[in-house]
Amino acid sequence: MASGEFSLIETFFNRPTGRSDIILGIGDDCALVAPPAQQYLALSIDTLVAGVHFFPDTNPQGLGHKALAVNLSDLAASGAKPAWCSLALTLPQIDEAWLGEFSAGFFALAAQHDIALIGGDTTQGPLAITVQVIGTIPEGEALLRSGAKPNDLIYVSGPIGNAGLGLLGRQGSLFIEDPALYAALETPNPRVALGQALLGMANACIDISDGLAADLCHILERSQVGADIEWDRLPLSKPVRKFIDCSGDLGFPLRAGDDYELCFTVSPKHQEDVERMFRQLNLDGACIGRIESKPGLRIRTGSGLIDLVKSGYEHFKPS
Ligand code: ADP
Ligand code: MG
Repeated sequence: MASGEFSLIETFFNRPTGRSDIILGIGDDCALVAPPAQQYLALSIDTLVAGVHFFPDTNPQGLGHKALAVNLSDLAASGAKPAWCSLALTLPQIDEAWLGEFSAGFFALAAQHDIALIGGDTTQGPLAITVQVIGTIPEGEALLRSGAKPNDLIYVSGPIGNAGLGLLGRQGSLFIEDPALYAALETPNPRVALGQALLGMANACIDISDGLAADLCHILERSQVGADIEWDRLPLSKPVRKFIDCSGDLGFPLRAGDDYELCFTVSPKHQEDVERMFRQLNLDGACIGRIESKPGLRIRTGSGLIDLVKSGYEHFKPS
């Protein structure tokens, strides 16, 4: 990028970290880290492009938070402990006020999860943000999508549909005042502590980015099983219930994305452990159904099955 690239990195991104496992951080050709013994490294990367993943005028502090949060959510879904990350920024120009807010949002969330920024890349072009995260997991213990077994209980870690309502508000297709719905969309809380607590307990896990139905289907396909969901057990906030009452759209919470809750399956013998964990972590999670050997996803209500295709769910492929 232009001459300001190095001072930009120094001013906004080169911060002291509390981690002793960083041999060399920002400033050289590569960063060097010392992974703990007997641990695997978990890597994930996600890009947010202006106009595609966020509105170009989105509050930069929220953007800094979200760019890291969506990656931390992938670590959470694997049960990994966050350790290091890098940041590739493509900026149309150097806007110091924007960078100040962006980095404040990024580092506030990084501090909460003890993840250190150890490098990156800075280029000029249309606004895009790529974060790569690295976490650690005890060898052989990672949570996968492929381990769900018939009779497992299916849980979600918190309310779904709030971020989807926030998105309808931002798009201008619904009048939304409740700041909690915008917060769900713009500053999601990745369930990092829960993911690690599920190691050795959950048989399968995924984070909900594309919507519960789509993401649960990834577990079902990878695990070669099916699922029965009880619609009445879905954890829904008051505004989401009200929206469903008014619109009649029962499929909404199943296809709404961006909530970044975890969806996981456990053997029924772990039911009490999971519920205790939810209390300890202050999560409003719920058991929403069961894994079955019969393939496919069935959503049951008191009056029958919901047809997700008819309810407007586009990505759903019936098996
Ligand atoms: P190189 O030319 O060797 O790729 P760069 O000039 O891209 O190095 O970057 C210089 C140093 O600053 C490197 O250590 C790189 O990791 C770091 N860096 C560049 N951009 C960022 C950024 N947006 N956030 C954090 N570190 C960055
Ligand atoms: Mg470079």
